[in-house]
Amino acid sequence: SFRVDVPAGSVLFHQGDAPTSAFLLESGSIEVITVHGDVSRRLGVLGPGDLLGEMAVLDDSPRSATARALADCVLMPIDRKQFAERLDSADPVVRALLLSQISRYRSALAQMSGQIEPSAASLPVPRSSDASVALDKIRLEGHLREALDKGELEVRLQPILDIAHHRIAGFEALTRWTHPERGPISPAEFIALAEETSLIVPVGDYVLDQVCSALQQLAPGDAADPLFVALNVSGRQLADPALLDRFLAVIRAHGLQPAQLKIEITESLVLDYVQVSRIIERCHAAGIKVALDDFGTGYSNLGHLHKLEFDTLKLDQGFVRQMHEPRCLAIVHAVVVMAHSLGCNIVAEGVETQAQLDSLRELGCTYAQGYLIGKPLALVDAVALATS
Ligand code: C2E
Ligand code: CA
Ligand code: CA
Ligand code: CA
Repeated sequence: SFRVDVPAGSVLFHQGDAPTSAFLLESGSIEVITVHGDVSRRLGVLGPGDLLGEMAVLDDSPRSATARALADCVLMPIDRKQFAERLDSADPVVRALLLSQISRYRSALAQMSGQIEPSAASLPVPRSSDASVALDKIRLEGHLREALDKGELEVRLQPILDIAHHRIAGFEALTRWTHPERGPISPAEFIALAEETSLIVPVGDYVLDQVCSALQQLAPGDAADPLFVALNVSGRQLADPALLDRFLAVIRAHGLQPAQLKIEITESLVLDYVQVSRIIERCHAAGIKVALDDFGTGYSNLGHLHKLEFDTLKLDQGFVRQMHEPRCLAIVHAVVVMAHSLGCNIVAEGVETQAQLDSLRELGCTYAQGYLIGKPLALVDAVALATS
């Protein structure tokens, strides 16, 4: 469960217990006490937004104190893994500082509990702005896990126009998350957050599953010229050697053709071109197409591009936006020619005006994507568009 209710008067954990998770106090009030023989001492009182039980999780030692609810409390458990992954990837100096602080805190605690009554304010975890940013992230990550579990992530489909034949050729899957309190959170933010831990793996699998269900309705695998759906794949997903086998299993389970699925890899991920070329080879062997996303924004190492057999180049919307400028138009023209001579088709992203679409048609660009063609659509609307 994602929330723990603790009624007033009951104990959340006891001093000496083995730690299973830390907690973020959402509402209520908790007192932290140490017990020595018959004497118990209150170390501090925690309120909404405070973190507790994190020390034992960080250094895997028994709980150094008892936590008891003073009022009815709601807590969000934070898995040891959520900290462990961050701690493992942290700067080693930071990690060492943190662990040394914890052990100093523990010994101070042990000394104190026999002698002085500490002031309540001195003990809860110090709140720096750094720590509160980190806690915000961890809280948001907890909410993202919850949203994923409840199926609250929505996969929208943005139409991609075949310019010459004036028909919808496929869609790009773009994921949406509406946070219950904060409202819509951009995928740029929550995908980056999921990327920081392994949460991106279940998120990616969920998106794939949604995309395959959508494809079944949009274009059954036995259709003559089936539509494709392009799927964004992030760095951590690409590094997962089992990813492609999972993709193929899901595609097969839905009775689809692998060619209906395109993978989009952002240009900035192509730093390790040996790894990327291996991925492209494996995708091609399985019949899956691969697109180079955001072309022109990253480290377009043209010297490596010829070794990477992308099926599609996606020209970043920054170029399309400035196509009214002759020098920018010249670049777009050159990229279209280059793509064609490399045997790639090309998608212009962010097409918002008829004038842009007209220029792209004249330049011989294959596909257009953008608000002029359509915004990212709910599945029913995408199906209606594809079959109209
Ligand atoms: P992207 O792959 O470059 O996706 C295109 C972005 O441009 C989308 O933003 C889309 O809504 C927006 N866009 C499309 N047409 C227009 C237009 O005409 N004008 C303007 N101004 N914008 C347009 P969005 O949906 O906010 O996604 C942002 C990024 O988040 C995506 O960039 C992609 O890199 C990432 N993303 C989205 N969904 C997923 C996902 O399921 N998995 C992964 N790994 N990344 C995702
Ligand atoms: Ca994309
Ligand atoms: Ca893009
Ligand atoms: Ca982008």
